[in-house]
Amino acid sequence: MPVPLQRGGFLKLTPLFLILIPCKLPSVIVFDNVSKTYGGQNVLDRVSVEISGGEFVSIVGPSGAGKSTFVSLLIGAIRPTSGKVIVDSYTINELDESTLSLYRRKLGIVYQDFKLLPKKTVFENVAFPLEITGQSDAVIAKRVAEVLEIVGLTNRAKHFPAALSGGELQRVGIARALVHEPALLIADEPTGNLDPETGADIMNLLIDINKAGATVILATHDRETVDRICKRVLRLDKGKIVSDLVHSCYKA
Ligand code: ADP
Repeated sequence: MPVPLQRGGFLKLTPLFLILIPCKLPSVIVFDNVSKTYGGQNVLDRVSVEISGGEFVSIVGPSGAGKSTFVSLLIGAIRPTSGKVIVDSYTINELDESTLSLYRRKLGIVYQDFKLLPKKTVFENVAFPLEITGQSDAVIAKRVAEVLEIVGLTNRAKHFPAALSGGELQRVGIARALVHEPALLIADEPTGNLDPETGADIMNLLIDINKAGATVILATHDRETVDRICKRVLRLDKGKIVSDLVHSCYKA
């Protein structure tokens, strides 16, 4: 049986920030000689990389480098042409559709375009992942209140997405990604639709989430974003990893 990706932990309120308390090590990710080919073109070319639990890893590179393909393989949205993608004890490329869908439910995923449901309030959007796993109303109410406090949107719970700014929409997206306490948070261009200042706020939130124990994988073409945080940076170009620098800053 695959090891669950959720931490068995809980959230504890501190005066400054709500801190995730991990009760087990977060995810280990292995790409083992992974290639992805479309129409004869190697979009990812024999990529091998290992990411330890608790790391914050940025995947950078120009448009078309293969960042989204990397993320899609990681979340099991596509399968590699060859090689293996392993997360904890899941070999993602070998999972059947129903196990894949269970696996995906355990991840926290943050999208560039937020992917919120427009007819649901902020509260309802964040509650949705818990509803589909059958949590009780009382558990949902408590947990949603906790994550809305983490992202600073307690006072927006009853608003609909149309009434929110871009930064607030992304905070809702992050709250929804955090609500089931994932050990692994994957953010694909999370600041791509935001102005630099709002993008910096969102990055600070991701850094806090990582400090609290979650593994964070960030795909971005935004050099400034990665320069600021100086964590591990994997640079892709034409489907290959051309550098893998720990605690470095992204250089064009
Ligand atoms: P990035 O996220 O770095 O911009 P992508 O992973 O989206 O790069 O794309 C890498 C390359 O793969 C691009 O040349 C893109 O056109 C190609 N590609 C991605 N998805 C598909 C697909 N479904 N069919 C054909 N080509 C694709």
